[in-house]
Amino acid sequence: MVLAEDHDPATGLPFLRALYDRVAETVEQGRAVGFLFFDIKQFSVLIKKQGEEKTVSIMASLGRVLAERYRAICRDADLLAISEESCGCFYLLLLSPPRLLPKLTISSVKKAAQRILKFFNAVAGEVAVEFGLNGCLEFRSGCSLIPVDSGVPVERLMAEAKRDADRRSDLNEILANFLSNITHEMRTPLTCIKGYTENLLDGAVENKELAYQWLRIISEEADRMEKLISDLADISMIEAHQFEFHLEAVDFASLVRHAADVMQISAAKHNVQIAVSCPDNLPVMMLDPGRISQVIINLLDNAVKYSAGSKLVEASVCCRNNSLVELAVRDYGPGIPDSKLPYLFDRFYRGVNSKEVRGRGLGLSIAKCIAEAHGGQIFVRSAVGSGSTFTLSLPVVNENRQNV
Ligand code: ADP
Repeated sequence: MVLAEDHDPATGLPFLRALYDRVAETVEQGRAVGFLFFDIKQFSVLIKKQGEEKTVSIMASLGRVLAERYRAICRDADLLAISEESCGCFYLLLLSPPRLLPKLTISSVKKAAQRILKFFNAVAGEVAVEFGLNGCLEFRSGCSLIPVDSGVPVERLMAEAKRDADRRSDLNEILANFLSNITHEMRTPLTCIKGYTENLLDGAVENKELAYQWLRIISEEADRMEKLISDLADISMIEAHQFEFHLEAVDFASLVRHAADVMQISAAKHNVQIAVSCPDNLPVMMLDPGRISQVIINLLDNAVKYSAGSKLVEASVCCRNNSLVELAVRDYGPGIPDSKLPYLFDRFYRGVNSKEVRGRGLGLSIAKCIAEAHGGQIFVRSAVGSGSTFTLSLPVVNENRQNV
């Protein structure tokens, strides 16, 4: 039985823990339980924009409407609960399989989650209008299946189910973003290549100067596509644990200087100067020069791309106790808010500052993977308004001890 203090006073919905007994009972009877959760997209932004007090009222209103209406799409056996912390989260436990199916499976739970998400979002739309939110109240959903396993306490099963549902939901979001980014990234250069090629074929090739200019653009766009495909190939190799490294004794300073040279043309286009400082006599390091150059170029490229009008990027190398070599790439761009720092190295993450800058959100995640495979790491310090420093730190390993 659910006790009164187990109910959220604002929405009247039971807290999740109040439903544990019911879930445990169902699992003990040999039936799996479908676990669905719905949370508000960008809840922290909602709090920031609307303030805490108004957000609490919005959530309470949402909870009340959902409690009144969810029976329209769920059956009596199904349970709707709310999170105990105010994190914009609702849970739904499906105790009965959809009609005509003998038991719940992950795919039937997924279908139910999509159907219920639509319904929840319709309700969210109404509440958004009521509070004058201009349509920015939307749910995302996650789901998983709590299996029949009477040996495990239900609290743990629920915590695992929530983690699993969270992960799936994040993956779905990442995949959707990825597909739309990649489609866009592929389409833009292709449209450009096609357009210029057609114009050249239509006779513009006769004008030598114009033809050169357009061929240069075609070549740049083809390079962009090549880079995208090579990033995707890297990602799939990382996934398949096939990323190979060929270590050799390397002068790290010359890799940094070479990378800065490679970046000069792009830096000049952005009106940015790259200043390199390296101490003499750095220890020789065992590295994969191609892969480490890729990391350095990525850090310099980002520093230039996201400099937003500032004119200097500094690449400084130092050696710590003869055991660690660090490259710090410092820019004086707009910097990155603290709240975004944890996501920078996630695959396909693109910051809001990157709208005008073309990219794929893959560079830093690949760079991190390469640094870690060398026993090193990449970390970032940034302050809004004064720029960012990305540091690549690599252990010095002598030629007889390979570290990858
Ligand atoms: P991309 O640059 O292709 O978007 P990355 O993985 O290299 O992908 O970077 C991920 C995100 O991190 C970028 O979209 C950008 O928002 C942020 N970022 C990276 N470097 C910087 C920098 N030096 N200054 C500000 N933001 C940066």
